[in-house]
Amino acid sequence: MAISGDTITLVVPVYNEEAAIPRFLEEITLRLAPLDASLEILFVDDGSRDRSFEVIRDASLRDPRIRYVKLSRNFGKEVALTAGIEMARGDAVVPMDVDLQDPPELILEFVRLWREGYRTVYGARRRRDADTFMKRLTAGAFYRLFNAVADMRIPEDAGDFRLIDREVVEVIRQLPERTRFMKGIFSWAGFSTIAVPYDRPAREVGQTSFNYRKLIRFAMDGITSFSTLPLRVWSAFGAVMALASLGYMLIVVVRTLVFGVDWPGYASLMSAVLFFGSVQLISVGVLGEYIGRIYFETKQRPLYVIEATNLGGAAVSARVGAADPSGSGRTAA
Ligand code: UDP
Ligand code: MG
Repeated sequence: MAISGDTITLVVPVYNEEAAIPRFLEEITLRLAPLDASLEILFVDDGSRDRSFEVIRDASLRDPRIRYVKLSRNFGKEVALTAGIEMARGDAVVPMDVDLQDPPELILEFVRLWREGYRTVYGARRRRDADTFMKRLTAGAFYRLFNAVADMRIPEDAGDFRLIDREVVEVIRQLPERTRFMKGIFSWAGFSTIAVPYDRPAREVGQTSFNYRKLIRFAMDGITSFSTLPLRVWSAFGAVMALASLGYMLIVVVRTLVFGVDWPGYASLMSAVLFFGSVQLISVGVLGEYIGRIYFETKQRPLYVIEATNLGGAAVSARVGAADPSGSGRTAA
């Protein structure tokens, strides 16, 4: 089968997806039949509470292309992806979801462009019809904000579905950070990149495990990982406010000197106290977001813990992943 001798590793994070796995394997086999490279299908079971792991293990006994890494609990999709990318042995790695929202046939095109010399080929979502209106609205706002404040850009239409060359994989493996915002990390690595547009279908079976709370955490992780602007705006804001306050102070003093003592002013005093109190709390909160992340970085906890794997040898010595996040598994999507 593998005429070219290349191996492509599909890294597939799985969290409570027992229903989706058999469909996924069927589709992969069907759609990737024309692929002239050998395939390694690496499932990362992210602490599923259903029978996902049993389904994967049984499938691996029948199909030698299937490898698995079972994490000891739910660490979140970003960490599961990191574990998979670190364990993958292919010449190119393709992170993809198990719910078939990432069309397998696109991989043929990814591989073609990879062989033309591109180090990263990403799937660009042409439309997001499958998402709800609110999801599209908030996602759009997030990308605009991210690209406005971060030192680098992430393409608005890119997800995690992409092909990355071994060279890029090695760069990513060396990033020790615990907050794993993979989309940002992929872009950070650089190298020649090209997009392949596609229409993202709706989820086939099961349901999304992301809610707004998780998505907000995810967005915060993304922005704090790649920008310090939220920390820096406060000095600018403070400076402007100090100038304005000085001006207002002069007015008040002069008015008092000219027109005599004038006590009323409860409303303006109250507004000023409340407004500045809130602004200070917000700025302290932003500081807290960063300090909390610094705290978890300094703990140097491993990024993930492997409970079982059929990768053998090398993987066993890496039972505890080198990098880690907050250890809270709160990063997602
Ligand atoms: N996933 C994971 N760990 C989690 C949540 C999700 O490994 O904590 C996996 C999930 O099994 C799927 C992929 O990440 O393969 C994308 O999840 P989902 O389809 O729920 O996200 P959405 O497509 O809604 O963004
Ligand atoms: Mg999905």
